[in-house]
Amino acid sequence: MVVEISDIETVAIIGSGEMGRGIAAVAALAGYETYVNDIDESQLAEAQDNIEWSYEKSVENGATTETETDAAMERLTFTTDLEEAVGDADFVTEAAVEQQSVKEDIFADLDEVAPEDALLATNTSGLNITQLAETTDRPEQVIGTHWFNPPMLMELVEVIMTEHTPDDVAGTAESIIESFDKTPIRCKIDIPSFIVNRLMRPYGEEPAWMVYRGEHSIREIDSAMKFKARFPMGPFELADYTGGLQVRVEGEQDHLEDDRPMSYDTEVCPILHQLYEKGRYGRKTDAGYYDYSESDEPDIPVDSGQGFDTLLVWAPIINEAAKMVENGVATVEDIDTGAKLGGNWPTGPLEKCDEVGADVVLECVTEVANRHTDTNKIAETLPCDLLVEKAKSGETFY
Ligand code: NAD
Repeated sequence: MVVEISDIETVAIIGSGEMGRGIAAVAALAGYETYVNDIDESQLAEAQDNIEWSYEKSVENGATTETETDAAMERLTFTTDLEEAVGDADFVTEAAVEQQSVKEDIFADLDEVAPEDALLATNTSGLNITQLAETTDRPEQVIGTHWFNPPMLMELVEVIMTEHTPDDVAGTAESIIESFDKTPIRCKIDIPSFIVNRLMRPYGEEPAWMVYRGEHSIREIDSAMKFKARFPMGPFELADYTGGLQVRVEGEQDHLEDDRPMSYDTEVCPILHQLYEKGRYGRKTDAGYYDYSESDEPDIPVDSGQGFDTLLVWAPIINEAAKMVENGVATVEDIDTGAKLGGNWPTGPLEKCDEVGADVVLECVTEVANRHTDTNKIAETLPCDLLVEKAKSGETFY
């Protein structure tokens, strides 16, 4: 029996790092008694200072008032004692380190000490939530809530169901997210990368292959996607900014071994391995696709991408979005909302498909897939049935 939204008063956050502290700041500001737990006392102290700082910033920006943030600060309790943190909690969000074994231990402990009707959520970026749920005696009360960084500023939260999640529990999780003044989108199947990062993958991967094969240059693609297609960052600039290259290479084996629906069965582009082996992870190592030893900003000329067809990058993303619709992972609206609020993209991929025409997109997806004929990537990139159907019938997604 899971708690009803109207009964939720107390929430707990496990892990007070970058994400946990942000989620706690949002929860307390939304009016909940909020317990923040960590195994590391110094992290809790830092989290408290950081929340105070972010509240000051939001008062300065006019997003909230000092009276509201003072009241929110009063609602926060920081503790290393898990039992104290979750003993009264109606909703728990786990935001500890991204390691399956650590999270499985936490969920087993939560099952022991959290109230029977508490809803238990994980902020994992991509680990197997179904397996986490199964470490408890209440798998139907375990769900994914994937926040974006920084939680105080980003509006989107993905709610991920597992095969054990009843509809009403997903609905309760969405209501909680809305009560935090955030926008939930529903990922109805526990698939690798969920919705937004699933779209992000071809945004990084296909351009990398184009550069690896010598078809286009890094600056050409980045300039086109940033200045013509109006993405907030070009794919290479973004990879350097987030350090995504390191995550992709180090997570490659886990992805290949993942047996959830829609798991990936291809290696990442070799250019990522080449950079990784040189220690070029991105901005944090002063070099990635670009060199940052002289400047924090990559030099991307506004007009270098004039001749590049941005549909070459859009098309594989649209195909991935259509695959998610075809497999019942998410609605058309949720996928587009995810891209716009989670990635700050100028438009959603399925809106883009309607704008360009599915027949034109299909042609481009096929062209990009055919460039992969010498690798096993072709199977992953071939157009999905739904896109083919839309192209044939002339139907739109909206
Ligand atoms: P982080 O390294 O900043 O913080 C992790 C915290 O967990 C640390 O304070 C650590 O002491 C604590 N911790 C470790 N084991 C613990 C335990 N057993 N009990 C309680 N606390 C424990 O990590 P982060 O960037 O905040 O990420 C947290 C989670 O959120 C990860 O699963 C990550 O994949 C996910 N996530 C991160 C981002 C991001 O941009 N950083 C975005 C979305 C999701």
